[in-house]
Amino acid sequence: MADIVLDKVTKAFPDGTLAVQEFNLEIADGEFVILVGPSGCGKSTTLNMIAGLEDISSGELRIDGQRVNDKAPRDRDIAMVFQSYALYPNMTVRENMAFPLKLAKLSREEIDRKVDEAAKVLELTALLDRKPANLSGGQRQRVAMGRAIVRSPKAFLMDEPLSNLDAKLRVQMRTVVSRLQKRLGTTTVYVTHDQTEAMTLGDRVVIMRAGAIQQVGEPQELYDHPNNLFVAGFIGSPS
Ligand code: ADP
Ligand code: MG
Repeated sequence: MADIVLDKVTKAFPDGTLAVQEFNLEIADGEFVILVGPSGCGKSTTLNMIAGLEDISSGELRIDGQRVNDKAPRDRDIAMVFQSYALYPNMTVRENMAFPLKLAKLSREEIDRKVDEAAKVLELTALLDRKPANLSGGQRQRVAMGRAIVRSPKAFLMDEPLSNLDAKLRVQMRTVVSRLQKRLGTTTVYVTHDQTEAMTLGDRVVIMRAGAIQQVGEPQELYDHPNNLFVAGFIGSPS
């Protein structure tokens, strides 16, 4: 598991877009942090910098106290779940979940054990022999999560993992995500533009606007004491 520190992390794209400006945040080991804000406010860019999928223009990213700005994604030991499921259509659920472990050259027994364990947590045991085409959207997203957790990464990053699902399923999947995080206790950064998701899922919520943090706090704290009108309006509190 990992603590993650963003110290004045800034992202300027080559075309001049300042997507994230001096982002400061300390995420504790085992914490579940939500990044929320309107479309284009820099949530995905922030997550991609933590994962190493985007370079950091300035500032420092530390994982477990070590500067990792220049560390390749695969050396960060972080798993990411995207909104698009990107499962391999020709592989069964078991093979999809086993894939990252095969790449890591684990033994057959170890792979089976880890996949069975992850399947149990995500209630996928009965579906292990199915192909993605024969799964519902929610089941597919659970497989995508399973593929992320099998490696027991230091941290999970999730970028709007539920936004492709219909409203009812989204509510059900919130419970799955929340239970998964509690059970594994893995440091998680979860991006959403959905206020309800933000206010119900995480330990702490980071409200972003135009590349900058507006406020960070526990949901109740943000609701009771919004810093400004944007925060109040965004989370729907009465002040
Ligand atoms: P969010 O995930 O909150 O919707 P993003 O992090 O995707 O926001 O984008 C933040 C800002 O950076 C937006 O203005 C977006 O248009 C811009 N942006 C994202 N990717 C690029 C890129 N590769 N080049 C230039 N600008 C980009
Ligand atoms: Mg995004």
